[in-house]
Amino acid sequence: MSLFNVYPLFDITPVKAKDVFVFDENNTKYLDLYGGHAVISIGHSHPKYVAAISEQVSKLGFYSNSIQNPLQVQLADKLEQLSGCKDYDLFLCNSGAEANENALKLASFHNGKKKVVAFKNSFHGRTSAAVAATDNPKIIAPINAQQEVEILALGDLESLEKALAKNDVCAVIIECIQGVGGLDESTATFYEGVDALCKRYNTCFIADEVQSGFGRTGDFFAFQKYKVTPDIISIAKGMGNGFPIGGILIHPNIKASFGLLGTTFGGNHLACVASLTVLEVIEEEQLMQNAKEISTYFIEKAKEITAIKKIKGRGLMLGLEFDFPIAELRKKLIFDHKIFTGSAKNPNLIRILPPLTIKKEHVDLFFEALKSELKKITT
Ligand code: PLP
Repeated sequence: MSLFNVYPLFDITPVKAKDVFVFDENNTKYLDLYGGHAVISIGHSHPKYVAAISEQVSKLGFYSNSIQNPLQVQLADKLEQLSGCKDYDLFLCNSGAEANENALKLASFHNGKKKVVAFKNSFHGRTSAAVAATDNPKIIAPINAQQEVEILALGDLESLEKALAKNDVCAVIIECIQGVGGLDESTATFYEGVDALCKRYNTCFIADEVQSGFGRTGDFFAFQKYKVTPDIISIAKGMGNGFPIGGILIHPNIKASFGLLGTTFGGNHLACVASLTVLEVIEEEQLMQNAKEISTYFIEKAKEITAIKKIKGRGLMLGLEFDFPIAELRKKLIFDHKIFTGSAKNPNLIRILPPLTIKKEHVDLFFEALKSELKKITT
């Protein structure tokens, strides 16, 4: 059987990994500044994570959500402690797309409306609101016709108010810093305006923290830079450090009832142990603090390079914008310097999404490689 061919592949086969490094079948070592789409938060194969998952799988990997699972409660408590999101409830699922689907569904159940507002260049997974990061009409279209998605320009509060005033919008879904779209971020006035309009028009504010959450920006959630109170916060990616897990945090204004949401695999024992260990390591190793410090160091280094036209992002969700397409440069970094980086919708932008355990010496390796390649381009 062939694989359904939807991914253009780099010809590299990782077989093992340790902290910020990945090794292929020839034992070639690659510096991982991408973390498989911002997934690796506490470093690859963290010993505490490996031990906790191994121990759990030897006891009980999975049982149904209709029976008590104290690990879900422990995960919810730890998440509340680290995120500071007091009194929210937690519903667990398996991925970012699923988290956002549940968020949209819940918003619609809650206020009885159907339409969704999202923003240009945002990306919310292959969901009803899978907005325009690819400009692919197949992806923009709602998948179930129940939810019509209106896409507005980031920063446009006037159009948002017009849309919400029609009183048929169940949710505004937003990344407080865009990921796949290319790290665009609007102003405090905008995000706080969105929050206020949502509250005025009884529309749910969904903060999509699938990529930016779990400490990646140096805050636990990216929205915490602003004075906003999301009704629903969607999470995944860094939450499991590679173990598939997602979820939504739900504000106490939205009440649960039996059967409202459901899942077979979501919140299984292994996934809970994976995510709980991620949180413990983030706390013990002060990885949010590290994200801030390394971010500052990275930005200082980037400022020394004149070929970099713009430095985007915050924490360890960073982008370097050039005045030329970066596809070839990225290939050189991977194949000649053994460094993984990410791309974005913007063809001139390199994205940097390393494990939160990264150190200054790794940043130095990247800038040495980058400088040597840029020298070749300019001479
Ligand atoms: N939301 C955001 C902001 C994302 O960046 C992504 C994936 O890149 C998703 C949702 C979808 O997550 P998943 O691929 O786990 O379905």
